[in-house]
Amino acid sequence: MFPNLYRDMASGMPDRVTCRQCGASQTVDPAECLRHGWPKCCGATMSLPGFTMTKNAPRSYSLDGPKCPKCGFIFTPDEGYYYDNNRYTSDKCQECGTKFSVEVHHSTSWLCKLVE
Ligand SMILES: [Zn+2]
Ligand SMILES: [Zn+2]
Repeated sequence: MFPNLYRDMASGMPDRVTCRQCGASQTVDPAECLRHGWPKCCGATMSLPGFTMTKNAPRSYSLDGPKCPKCGFIFTPDEGYYYDNNRYTSDKCQECGTKFSVEVHHSTSWLCKLVE
């Protein structure tokens, strides 16, 4: 119908979904998923890790650092406060001066192997 609309909505969305139940992850095309639905696993729709859907407000998602939702400038997260999800809740773009809110998400995983 409006392929560009989906393409636009999907920009900045992660291209990987995970299952909350079993932890399986899968690479997806977010634009296709917005159009046809998200993959399911363990009987539930797989989720976008660390991504919150907000309507209308321009948003961004990045694994590299806070990303300006307006101009796409990515901050270099070389200071500890960039990782603080309690106190680091907003910032101002160094490039274009736009103020935006920030949600910091952490994910931790453990891979264990049996050793002889
Ligand atoms: Zn699963
Ligand atoms: Zn900016």
